[in-house]
Amino acid sequence: MSLTVKVMIGMVAGLIVGIVFNAIDSDFINTHIVGGFFAMVGTMFVNALKMLVVPLVIFSLICGVTGIGDIRVLGRVGGKSFGLYLFTTAVAIAIAILMALIVAPGDGFDMTGVDTSGVTGREAPTVWQVFAGIVPTNPIASFASGEMLQIIFYVIIVGIAALMLGDRSRPFIEACEYMNELMMKVVSIVMAFAPYGVFCLIAKTFTEQGIELFVPVLAYVGTLTVALFFHLFVTLMIMLKVLAGLNPFTFMTKIRPAQIFAFSTASSNATIPVTFRCVTQRIGADNSVASFTVPFGATINMDGTAIMQGVATVFLANVYGIDLGVGGYLTVIAMAVLASIGTAGVPGVGLVMLTMVLGQVGLPIEGIALILGVDRLMDMIRTAVNITGDAVVSTIVAKSEGKLDMAVFRDPDAGVIID
Ligand code: ASP
Repeated sequence: MSLTVKVMIGMVAGLIVGIVFNAIDSDFINTHIVGGFFAMVGTMFVNALKMLVVPLVIFSLICGVTGIGDIRVLGRVGGKSFGLYLFTTAVAIAIAILMALIVAPGDGFDMTGVDTSGVTGREAPTVWQVFAGIVPTNPIASFASGEMLQIIFYVIIVGIAALMLGDRSRPFIEACEYMNELMMKVVSIVMAFAPYGVFCLIAKTFTEQGIELFVPVLAYVGTLTVALFFHLFVTLMIMLKVLAGLNPFTFMTKIRPAQIFAFSTASSNATIPVTFRCVTQRIGADNSVASFTVPFGATINMDGTAIMQGVATVFLANVYGIDLGVGGYLTVIAMAVLASIGTAGVPGVGLVMLTMVLGQVGLPIEGIALILGVDRLMDMIRTAVNITGDAVVSTIVAKSEGKLDMAVFRDPDAGVIID
């Protein structure tokens, strides 16, 4: 049985166990099995994924940069992916706002009685602050704290320097190639535990998330889910077909493992090792492109999160009976795109971004209390959308650079997630 199938079984089993445990609602199960054992295994697994991210990105990116070998090509790959990432995010949120305006969730909702004590706001960073933050003062500190944009910036410069030194860099590049291979093996080892990790994560979430949380905000959850699926299956797939001429169905089956990991962990960052594997080994993008576009996308590209900002803003505007007007919605689009560049892909960051967006358009931040209860599940779905966007853009850029191996793309058995 392939690992992907095992992971899927883990997910479905986790779902069933979670729903059953939630219905049983026993103190013993909740504290010892779910809050104890499942939480432990789940945390160990997510930690292990995170443990892979920084070394994997460093070595694969050095190999990528030195593999491209030409600074102009590097600039072109960077420019294309940046442009496409911004574009997909902006389209995503624009569609989300339109859908939400049509459905109008939250009309006539009564906020009295909603506990708003747990909500604190955050100031939005300016464009200038976001860009200034890309240059690290201390690369070791950036590695240690996993500041992805700073790591990418620094590693690319080191790679360029290695290229400039020419032949003298050969031992260094070979060492990095070896380290890259070694890290891939480490990924395989961690992946072997994936079915159990995924099972525990999903079972824990669904035990804790009662269905009754959803009822009051069903209109929000429904609109958001439809908008997320629309982006996933329509917008992104049209882009893939039109810009790269690739079969969306093949693509979807190939990216599925990464979607499952994103759904289970609710973290694009933690999913980087899996997304990277899917994009290179299953879809066929060359390491020289994917080593840059995948971690870059996990940090700056959050289509699903942007969609949530759009639907949540319209929802809360309706709840408070405030008309934002066209200008207000354009501000929301700009803010959400900017906020998605400046924030990392970790669980729950979408809510933090939402406080910035709401503050900017003058909506009461306390409104977030309404959607807090359902956010974990929404986070899981939108993270799966986020990483699919990363993979679509990576694939389009690789194809346009002639760096997509079509034989791999067409081969249904290509790229085991574990070897
Ligand atoms: N969890 C999301 C991610 O990692 C971000 C968010 O929407 O909260 O991509």
